[in-house]
Amino acid sequence: MFPLIPNRRNRPQNDLIFALSEEAQRRKAAGESIVNATLGSLMTDEGKLAVLETAAKAVHEVAREEWAAYAPISGSGPFLKAVVHDYFQNAPDLEAMSIAAATPGGTGALRHAVGNYLEPGQSLLTTGYFWGPYQTICDEQNMKLETFSMFAQDGTIDVSALDAKVTELLARQGRVLLFLNDPCQNPTGYSMTRAEWKAVVTCLLAHAEKGPITLLVDTAYYLYGSAADPRAFIEELRPLIGHVGLLFAWSASKSFTHYGLRVGALVAVVPDTKEREITAAALSYSCRGTWSNCNRGGLSAVTKLLSDSTLAKACDTERRSLKQVLTSRVNLFNSLARPKGLKYPRYEGGFFVTVFADDAMAHAQVMREKGVFVVPQKGALRVALCSVAEKDIPRLVDALG
Ligand code: PLP
Repeated sequence: MFPLIPNRRNRPQNDLIFALSEEAQRRKAAGESIVNATLGSLMTDEGKLAVLETAAKAVHEVAREEWAAYAPISGSGPFLKAVVHDYFQNAPDLEAMSIAAATPGGTGALRHAVGNYLEPGQSLLTTGYFWGPYQTICDEQNMKLETFSMFAQDGTIDVSALDAKVTELLARQGRVLLFLNDPCQNPTGYSMTRAEWKAVVTCLLAHAEKGPITLLVDTAYYLYGSAADPRAFIEELRPLIGHVGLLFAWSASKSFTHYGLRVGALVAVVPDTKEREITAAALSYSCRGTWSNCNRGGLSAVTKLLSDSTLAKACDTERRSLKQVLTSRVNLFNSLARPKGLKYPRYEGGFFVTVFADDAMAHAQVMREKGVFVVPQKGALRVALCSVAEKDIPRLVDALG
């Protein structure tokens, strides 16, 4: 008798994005000219993984005992302090009321949020276009995922659709956990304006008395947005404090170009001291029950990068030049794609953009036959400009059109 439980018997064999990328790499190795716009890692125009020099050096300088020993269950104190400070360096009052737990990448933070802020079997709420692993994370914990239509007619975030869905979920399940990935949302590339944040906050506050609502801001790409101060949007979230739960998923993967280091954190802003202690204990328990503890060497390197001001400045400078590479690609994409009539959200920067397409599967298949790889999703094609050399963008836009 096949002992695997029935609800695990229809899992896909391979992650779609990784499967497409593997095919692209295989065909390229066989000599074909390929444009691979599937994977979310920043590549140089020469096709190499872009790595911040200072970050790579810090990782290599970590002592072997640091790699070999266990880390504390929730992560080392200096790491947790440094991550919280990274968000709230301009808001000491918020810093004082925040706690964190180390997680393997931002993915671990998302996992802990779903496991601790929803009752078993309930639904997570997110935007209609969303990063596929949100669904996987819910499936793995026997949770569900529901969405609200992301864009209104004018191309801005559809706050009335959000409002309707929050109303529905509160009536049906008595609580709401909302994931918003901003700035540079994966997959659309969209970044909300301060006014849009204000509207989202007003919407959530209007429902706050009806049941527990928690907003998680997934900031995987926050150092690649076009805002002069990437932390400025946090000011708009202040009115939530004490009324709506506020979480942040922090990740070193893109911020320090160390995707494989698996360093991240879940940060919770909890104004009440007792509730803060209870939250920290719940997150620590979740760590113990999933991955036990994180990679101590990785936490140690990232702590240094965040808290040594010389290293932090060096990373900022190096990241700025990577951002410049990305911005140059985005500008070229916009200058070719808009006149061609491609339909996609306002796009000012970040790793991805999503081009709306009626029959995305068929469209992606035709592109693939021409050696141009993008990721088909419902009604759209996700284009990872982060991995496309500037010289290949005209060919990419041609294939998309
Ligand atoms: N959130 C989004 C939207 C992402 O695209 C990613 C990575 O691609 C993550 C979170 C988490 O990445 P990691 O677990 O590598 O930190």
